[in-house]
Amino acid sequence: MDMFTHIHEHEQVVLCNDPSTGLKAIIAIHDTTLGPALGGCRMRPYASFDEALEDVLRLSKGMTYKCAAADVDFGGGKSVIIGDPSKDKSPELFRAFGQFVDSLNGRFYTGTDMGTTPEDFVHAAKETNCIVGVPEAYGGSGDSSVPTSLGVIYGIQATNEAAFGSKNLSGKVYSIQGLGKVGMKVAEHLLEQGCDLYVYDINEKAVESLLEKAPTLNGQVKAVTADELYSVPADVFVPCALGGILNDETIEALKVKAIAGSANNQLLAERHGDLLQQKGILYAPDYIVNAGGLIQVADELYGPNKERVLKKTEAIYSSLLQVYKYSESHGVPTYKAADRFCEERLEARKKRNSMFAHSKRPKWDIRN
Ligand code: NAD
Repeated sequence: MDMFTHIHEHEQVVLCNDPSTGLKAIIAIHDTTLGPALGGCRMRPYASFDEALEDVLRLSKGMTYKCAAADVDFGGGKSVIIGDPSKDKSPELFRAFGQFVDSLNGRFYTGTDMGTTPEDFVHAAKETNCIVGVPEAYGGSGDSSVPTSLGVIYGIQATNEAAFGSKNLSGKVYSIQGLGKVGMKVAEHLLEQGCDLYVYDINEKAVESLLEKAPTLNGQVKAVTADELYSVPADVFVPCALGGILNDETIEALKVKAIAGSANNQLLAERHGDLLQQKGILYAPDYIVNAGGLIQVADELYGPNKERVLKKTEAIYSSLLQVYKYSESHGVPTYKAADRFCEERLEARKKRNSMFAHSKRPKWDIRN
């Protein structure tokens, strides 16, 4: 494989190998125009090195766009540990990983993602200051699903404004897929506002728990099956479980006017974003809607402050409205408008970065 052709968009890719702890990891830094790279660390028993590399390259690029959309001073990065989270973890492995992160001298900040927990990073944080999202007891900022779910609510408000002419949540019917950490909080908030919901979660206990709470809230909940959820007569579909759920089959079934939820990578392929536009369904790009958690970890470096995070999360509302405006005025689907919106932010910052780069003290000055 010609590695440089393969990673041509990325600034730096680091292979981390520590036979004494069994650590095999890849750190990918995609773009540091906005600041040091930030992105979680995923642990999976990848079938091959190439599969792990593909994943980390794709995910780190996604972080560049997500950071730009959320307007945080970080660039795109991600890391993957090749291993089975159920049997290959040890405190030493995460300390070794922390040492590799530290060797990048602040170019890369990381924390938990699929397969890793905040507790794993307590070990890594002993070796480097470049760790975010440790438990609150260790100075972290706590459960990221709180700002993420709030961001989803702002996302739905902006979507309602664009699709129905009013940001009001009430008077609308929502179909929610997934009642986990994010979906449950969103469902409760919507019920408090008197909204009616159709819900489905593969975990029956989660559905039962919402049905039990519903009588104390204002709206009505109807539990439906996995397939029914796509064709119920709701106004807004709120995916909070899996990716790839917007595909040929489901888009054909959907009766909603808009989609806004937290699930990552909702479009199975980009062309499904085009298909939604053709069908007149307004799609809120996932990485803008679900940025609350990222905003929280990015903010952590200023010292945890929940109020400040919630305030910053509010900007999801105006960012999304800008994306909808761009989409309408340029006649492009919303997922493309979101990418362009981020690329414009990156270009503007590149210009500012290069403007001041020349005024930096030259190296020979430092020696004097
Ligand atoms: P979670 O694991 O707490 O909840 C996911 C829920 O989806 C669970 O209740 C699970 O039973 C359900 N589920 C799984 N498969 C399903 C299926 N086929 N149909 C319906 N329900 C199904 O996760 P979460 O933290 O609530 O995150 C939800 C989504 O939002 C994920 O895609 C996640 O990547 C994304 N996200 C979360 C955060 C965050 O801060 N937690 C931030 C950004 C994005």
